[in-house]
Amino acid sequence: MGVGGAGLPGRGASLAAAAGAAWLAVEGLPELLGHYLHAGVVARGAGDGRPRAALTFDDGPDPASTPRFLEALDRLGVPATFFMVGRRAAREPALVREVLAAGHTIGNHTWSHRHAWTLGPAATLREIEDAAALLEDLGGRPVRFLRPPWGAFNWAVWLGAARTRARIVLWSAVGDDWKARATPASIVRRVRQGLRPGAIVLLHDAGGAQGAPERTLAALPELVARMRQAGFALLSLEQLLGAEAAPAGGGLPSPAGGGGDAGGSRP
Ligand SMILES: [Zn+2]
Repeated sequence: MGVGGAGLPGRGASLAAAAGAAWLAVEGLPELLGHYLHAGVVARGAGDGRPRAALTFDDGPDPASTPRFLEALDRLGVPATFFMVGRRAAREPALVREVLAAGHTIGNHTWSHRHAWTLGPAATLREIEDAAALLEDLGGRPVRFLRPPWGAFNWAVWLGAARTRARIVLWSAVGDDWKARATPASIVRRVRQGLRPGAIVLLHDAGGAQGAPERTLAALPELVARMRQAGFALLSLEQLLGAEAAPAGGGLPSPAGGGGDAGGSRP
């Protein structure tokens, strides 16, 4: 017989409950707040109901695939946002500058793309701040957007965003383009399922299953054509979110903004 309280079922149950509560506070709660409830997170441009959307490409830069995405986007006349992994960007400084020179926006996808649940607070801040410093150094301009890998959260993700002066941006439409079973047609279909005014579309210019970037590339012309047929303007995140950041203050209540009178006669 063990001595670990096996004779006291009540104590065992309360220990399990305590462990569950600890997990909830340490990992579950930030995940719930950030990933699902979007507290302090932008998942879609609020906009004014106008059909506008932003394409975002994660996990690059990759010297094999990213230049081909630049060519395709140039042919289509679409500005996009690339959420870059710091350690990849460090190996491809010229490619990072090329992305910016082509008129696209760059976002921070952390230094080494580790899941937030595997990182303590200090490591989380390093992952965010090191990538921000490198990308800002390479690009010579602020990096205003942060996307934690897998959209996963711990408490330090918000702190890292604040310290790097970035907005946390997730997505509202997915192509599921990193999966092995994705096809160009399935990518177009999945994105269209999530398409709403202000949509932020998650795609990848690198990584994923074998051949994944090829399939995303092949999907792009059809995807862009379908979105435009539906009346959507395709913008960078800067353009999609920039305009609404000014009046709304990014969700922070402003002392002067309280008199919006949306409710009419309430005091
Ligand atoms: Zn990623």
